[in-house]
Amino acid sequence: DRILRGPVMKVEDLYQEIILDHYRSKHHSGLREPYDAEVQHVNPTCGDEVRLRVRLEGDTVADVSYDAMGCSISQASTSVMTDLVIGRDVAYDLGLYEEFLAMMQSKGQIEPDEERLEDGIAFAGVAKFPARVKCALIGWSAFRDAVMRAQSASSKEMEQ
Ligand code: ZN
Repeated sequence: DRILRGPVMKVEDLYQEIILDHYRSKHHSGLREPYDAEVQHVNPTCGDEVRLRVRLEGDTVADVSYDAMGCSISQASTSVMTDLVIGRDVAYDLGLYEEFLAMMQSKGQIEPDEERLEDGIAFAGVAKFPARVKCALIGWSAFRDAVMRAQSASSKEMEQ
């Protein structure tokens, strides 16, 4: 029994540790200038709030800055997301969003790809708790929303 439970506990502990590390010292936290779009997302079920800004340079996500309040899962997930998306291609980042979303909606059935999701794999454990899935997604959906707004703003500029 101990042999079987050992490794399972270790993975859960590791996930917990990753989440707490990001919660205690959030990466890329604070609102910065310049930015192309700002959004505010709220998860009323838990009381999480994220205000998030995106700066695009061409097809690259040059910066993502944010102010997050709420539970440790929502804040840690937003921190992890910024590590993954900043400095990368918009299309790549939207692909990551889809991948993270699929993992969170799989009720723990999808094995996360550590090469791509890095610390994001820690939320695979959260996917088993439906009430917390929105907490893990709030930063990601705010990011996607902000990117969409930034892109539509820049395409309007091109038309003028
Ligand atoms: Zn929450």
